[in-house]
Amino acid sequence: MTQDDAHHETPEARGYTRRQRLVNLIGLAVFALLSLHRGHHIWSAMDEHAISAWWIPLGVFLALPFADFLSGFVHWAADNWGRGDWPILGGFIQPFRNHHVDPLDMTRHGPIERHGDNCVASLPLFVAAFLAGPGPLSEVFWGSFWLASAYWIIATNQFHAWAHMTEVPGWVAWLQRHRLILSPEHHDRHHLPPHGDAYCITNGWMEAPLRWLRFFDLLDAIIERICGLPPRRRRGPEHADARDTGLQSMKRAQ
Ligand SMILES: [Zn+2]
Ligand SMILES: [Zn+2]
Repeated sequence: MTQDDAHHETPEARGYTRRQRLVNLIGLAVFALLSLHRGHHIWSAMDEHAISAWWIPLGVFLALPFADFLSGFVHWAADNWGRGDWPILGGFIQPFRNHHVDPLDMTRHGPIERHGDNCVASLPLFVAAFLAGPGPLSEVFWGSFWLASAYWIIATNQFHAWAHMTEVPGWVAWLQRHRLILSPEHHDRHHLPPHGDAYCITNGWMEAPLRWLRFFDLLDAIIERICGLPPRRRRGPEHADARDTGLQSMKRAQ
């Protein structure tokens, strides 16, 4: 499917393949099982060692800007590097490309399509949650931090979808107004071509520090130096044939 074909009514027509749906379903099931297991472990450690329950909300709160950073990093990578027709990984890249063509399409996604990719993408955070420790206090705090990070990542697609909706429940509008979740005003900046700004889509808190550090510009410069192609948003007509071949050309150059 090309980007120009993105405005279709069925998931299959816009490129949401049965394989990607299966990957999403497995991701959702594994995510649910792992989070139940980790949640039980954190609760048991807190109970057994009489650790203050306040460590949990602290971990949950600190996980929010961390998830915002991760959302920006993944979004920047998918928008600018790699190809939508790569096996497996392309299934995660293409929705970001489609989103620039038809931003409202994601508001029509069902729950599996909306949350499945992020469930899969957040599974590595469970490895960190399993490694939390040593010691019960560290297990409770870091276990909560990593588990909450995974949940904030899942919530990110919902926050993103709400930022594109013209009507949202009153409490969602309140959260948006107070910048606790992604606001439409903040996210609108990303949808201005060439889509090179405001990558963070959980609540946008990390946008200013990352811009100050020139974080994504620096990463782009490193990859551009290695593979010889600019990021996708800066590719002009002279790179038309190589529009999506950033990492492939890197392989060729090695
Ligand atoms: Zn984007
Ligand atoms: Zn968007």
